[in-house]
Amino acid sequence: MTTSAQWIARGDKHVAKTYGRYPLVAARGEGCQLWDVDGKRYLDFLAGVAVNNLGHCHPKVVAALQQQAAELIHCSNFYHIPSQIELAELLCEHSFGDRVFFCNSGAEANEAAMKLVRKYSAEKYGSNRFEVITALASFHGRTIGTISATGQDKVKAGFNPLLPGFHYVPFGDAEALRKAITPNICAVMLEPVQGEGGVRVAPPGYLEAVRQICDEHDLMLVFDEVQVGCGRTGSLFAYEQDGVAPDVLTLAKALAGGPPIGAMVATEKAAECFGPGTHGSTFGGNPLMATAAVTAMRTLLEDGVLDNCVAMGDYLRNRLEELKGRHPFINEVRGRGLILGVELTIPGADIVSQALQQGLLINCTANTVLRFLPPLIVTREEIDEAMTILDGILQKI
Ligand SMILES: *Cc1c(COP(=O)(O)O)cnc(C)c1O
Repeated sequence: MTTSAQWIARGDKHVAKTYGRYPLVAARGEGCQLWDVDGKRYLDFLAGVAVNNLGHCHPKVVAALQQQAAELIHCSNFYHIPSQIELAELLCEHSFGDRVFFCNSGAEANEAAMKLVRKYSAEKYGSNRFEVITALASFHGRTIGTISATGQDKVKAGFNPLLPGFHYVPFGDAEALRKAITPNICAVMLEPVQGEGGVRVAPPGYLEAVRQICDEHDLMLVFDEVQVGCGRTGSLFAYEQDGVAPDVLTLAKALAGGPPIGAMVATEKAAECFGPGTHGSTFGGNPLMATAAVTAMRTLLEDGVLDNCVAMGDYLRNRLEELKGRHPFINEVRGRGLILGVELTIPGADIVSQALQQGLLINCTANTVLRFLPPLIVTREEIDEAMTILDGILQKI
């Protein structure tokens, strides 16, 4: 049997070095647990960065994949695909949306959104009105287009020239956004809760104010819910809790309960300009992924998963607040549902490494924010186990 150390040495030779990987070689997952190839067990409070919202290998998703894989894996979008149609119906039935474009990742969903808002604006106002306002500390993906949209310099270094026409404003400041509007702006793109930027929730009233500004200027409002959609915040979509709907919503990560898929949901008004030949994707909405996504969405909606997310989100938040009371280097606990961040006054990387050694997977964003993204099916006992590990680490600092 190949050990972790042997796999790591082999990986170092031929796999692209684009990730700073932790020394864990994944073998198997079940619910909130992950095992490495040496048989060590981990409690997974990262959940593939908010992908495994139903836990690892949810039996319903596994069964759907197995059955569909034996029936039809791929078929071109030249033809009609029943599970893709069902998924579009489900997404529209449970959102503001009328039409869905399917792709394979979050970045692709945002690329689709950026093409859509340009096209909408070009048809109505001419070709100069293509610029987009996004937020500082945002994250929208790793393609040339989406790093251009992202409000963080660190993802852009070395990749010039980027796409022109992006303007970045402080997240949460509606007046700053209003001031950034020029006749060439066509859209605003925001995450209702910033994930990579350090788990920052839009302040009360902010998204409503942004919606109003967009309406005044006929700007398309795009919500990037690639990380916080699909139940993560306790509602199916994060925007529901802010009481405002966008014109365009992008989804990916947890949509299929593990397998890769991306989606752009839009109103009819916005989607009208996306006619035949304007956009496409070979794999987008293929039978295998679409079937998994239909199953994952139904499970999310029917099996009390959202209720558990709210209840366990409250519980985890309280447990983290307790830790804050005892550890002065914890600055703030924030988030919504089961995306929670613990902002420290010190860097978090070492805590993440120690947690991994002790069998708890979390990560650190924005240098000082420990991020907790457990599966939405997490139990009180699993949270207690995670908090015992974390408390033990924090006590030694
Ligand atoms: C992860 C993420 C993306 C990019 O998704 P990929 O599937 O990695 O391309 C885009 N936006 C947000 C908010 C994300 O968290």
